[in-house]
Amino acid sequence: MIEKIGVIGAGQMGSGIAQICALGGYDVYISDVSQDALDKGLKAIRKNLDRMVNKKKISAEDVKETMAQIQTSTDYAFFSDCDLVVEAASEVEPVKRAIFDALCPVLKPEAIIASNTSSISITRLAAHTDRPGKFIGMHFMNPVPVMKLVEVIRGIATDANTFQQITDLSLKLGKSPVSAEDFPAFIVNRILLPAINEAVYTLYEGVGSVLSIDTAMKLGANHPMGPLELADFIGLDTCLAIMNVLHEGLADTKYRPCPLLVKYVEAGWYGRKTGKGFYDYSGDIPVPTR
Ligand code: NAD
Repeated sequence: MIEKIGVIGAGQMGSGIAQICALGGYDVYISDVSQDALDKGLKAIRKNLDRMVNKKKISAEDVKETMAQIQTSTDYAFFSDCDLVVEAASEVEPVKRAIFDALCPVLKPEAIIASNTSSISITRLAAHTDRPGKFIGMHFMNPVPVMKLVEVIRGIATDANTFQQITDLSLKLGKSPVSAEDFPAFIVNRILLPAINEAVYTLYEGVGSVLSIDTAMKLGANHPMGPLELADFIGLDTCLAIMNVLHEGLADTKYRPCPLLVKYVEAGWYGRKTGKGFYDYSGDIPVPTR
């Protein structure tokens, strides 16, 4: 039975996962590399919950109770009581491996590890742990409190009970789980990221400006956000990491990351989270950078 949930990484995904788990009545333990990162995550959760109070979705009392359900630490030892730990750290395989190296020795033998990876092989990550049967992909969408979907991905060794528990938990958290096979980037990002990458090529080749590409896809394909706006929202570092996984994992040149995407990431222009990407977010309204 899952009662205590650990979350590793307090970024946009980890803080969202922690928020919905705490709101769902679970005890939540979040860790990150620094207290600074944890404070930033807690602030984001608080801001989201306050927004829900303004929309009359929850009460001020609910906010107090939810925040009280969340504990933070930079020390792995506090995961020792957790029934499930969701890893939501940066999309860098060696980072995730190092996390599992530190995590496994402190966990209860029956505890489940779920990775929120957008693209990395669950089978390969699982093989790096002491519990491939209790390792699974639990891929939330961004923003976690709003988006209904959770992709549940079994590695080759994931056992049926782990799959059932994570499917049940997704439902209890108000999400709609969909089962995806363990192939690079699973379902949503296998389709979505090549489309975003193609939008960056469209910009790179001068077919359109940032604004004309986003406007064209919003008005012409009825997408709620333009692809470049969406890329900034996801994080350009994450977009590039996913394209690299597709390119290497499927060995097909059609997944070649656009050199302009590489350049933005090299510049540290990761999108909304760093204040600049295909748009500059320093003013009141986002201004295109090209
Ligand atoms: P982010 O950059 O907002 O947050 C990553 C967090 O991980 C940061 O707070 C960072 O300090 C922390 N971190 C890095 N190394 C760590 C370590 N060794 N131990 C603990 N924490 C560490 O990134 P994000 O958008 O929240 O993405 C996190 C994961 O979720 C990635 O695997 C990403 O692919 C996946 N994901 C992202 C999206 C999206 O739209 N951004 C959607 C679904 C899944």
